Amino acid sequence: MSEEKNVIKELKDELFYSPKHASEIISEDEVKKADEFAEGYKYYMDHGKTERESVEYFVEKAKSLGFTEFNRKSNYKPGDKVYYNNRGKSVILCVFGTRPICDGVKISAAHLDSPRLDLKPNPLYEDTELAYFKTHYYGGIKKYQWTAIPLALHGVIVKANGESVKVCIGEDDGDPQFVITDLLPHLAAEQMKRTMAEGIKGENLNILIGSRPFSKDEGSEKVKLNVIKLLSEKYGITESDFLSAELEVVPAFKARDIGFDRSLIGAYGHDDKVCAYPAAEAIFAVENPSYTLLTVLTDKEETGSDGNTGLNSSYLKYFISDLARMGGEEPWRVLSASECLSADVNAALDPIFADVSEPMNASFVNRGVVITKYTGARGKGGTSDASAEFMGKIRRMLDKENVVWQIGELGKVDIGGGGTVAMYVANLDIDVVDLGVPVLSMHAPFEVISKLDLYMAFRAFKAFFEQK
Ligand code: MN
Ligand code: MN
Repeated sequence: MSEEKNVIKELKDELFYSPKHASEIISEDEVKKADEFAEGYKYYMDHGKTERESVEYFVEKAKSLGFTEFNRKSNYKPGDKVYYNNRGKSVILCVFGTRPICDGVKISAAHLDSPRLDLKPNPLYEDTELAYFKTHYYGGIKKYQWTAIPLALHGVIVKANGESVKVCIGEDDGDPQFVITDLLPHLAAEQMKRTMAEGIKGENLNILIGSRPFSKDEGSEKVKLNVIKLLSEKYGITESDFLSAELEVVPAFKARDIGFDRSLIGAYGHDDKVCAYPAAEAIFAVENPSYTLLTVLTDKEETGSDGNTGLNSSYLKYFISDLARMGGEEPWRVLSASECLSADVNAALDPIFADVSEPMNASFVNRGVVITKYTGARGKGGTSDASAEFMGKIRRMLDKENVVWQIGELGKVDIGGGGTVAMYVANLDIDVVDLGVPVLSMHAPFEVISKLDLYMAFRAFKAFFEQK
């Protein structure tokens, strides 16, 4: 009887697909490495909350590691490292390989933008002796989650004279912060009857920024006057300068360990900085690669990748075309021979909301990096569906390097879905599949990921870059 049981167990082990918790697979030493890797990630998360700050962070780090600004008139040799800064909002990191460029390049592409509240072009007003900024939310948010939490203001203002001023308020200890107020439960009977989508409306997302009038003199809008006077003293701006600004309101939370066992990280903007960071660290870690490597950290994914800093623009194609020309090759030949990991997060199955996921095909926290063969919604609409051949290749590569991985679909078939940059890369005739980190509370002001999954993402990108 017990012998028969063993046979069954052995056969099951051999024939069944049964993903496991990463800690059951990797060594204790590797768990320690994952915890160390997470420390660098948390530092980055507190210093790169917006796409602009992230680009600055990665360019600075790249420079310190010997990367130089890409010059399309230069000639590069294997081992050379360059970066291309696209308007301060997206960046390509590139390391030249020993293979000829006609063999194609290996690309890891992640995005730096996260859901947030952008200031409207004319944002400042006063009502009932309280001053506010009006906002227009960016990306997919549940609006009610953004009230009654501490907020910080980041961005850039280009003044009438052309001078550019950087803004970052609410992050340092001692900085003031901002908030969107919500209604007290005692008076919210009517509000509570609305749907969650309607509970807080887009035009309710106004940021409280002041309450003290400019002087005792008679006059209207004195609180607003006081606020703009303070801003004028600090930044030298007038109200019209908001018209040429990009000011982003983000949660003021710092990245923190979550759980008694510190196995998780809570932070704003894991989507998709939890892929951007390991994709950058992987290209920083590879010395003398065989293929030419690109880590593309892009903007505007959360609004559909349109715009000249998003991956639906031609900047990646132009960059690879420059590499092709330098190697005496036609650009499309290089594109067609290239491969890409579209590095984006997926929704981890949340046991509290398990009914939206299909457990056999959902990703789970701590089961390693998640490969998403296809995205899209309602019959795979708007998807890039990776081929069996490319899936097979990536899977062999990960298994060979003992990278813990799993597969994942974004929710049940009829429930929802989503897209990433994969299709824009695929449209360049590049083989591409989504690979990233499972996230809990995706798009919330404070999202949760696992340290082991983050580290497995780094290991996956590194294995991809180290192909011979
Ligand atoms: Mn994303
Ligand atoms: Mn997203």
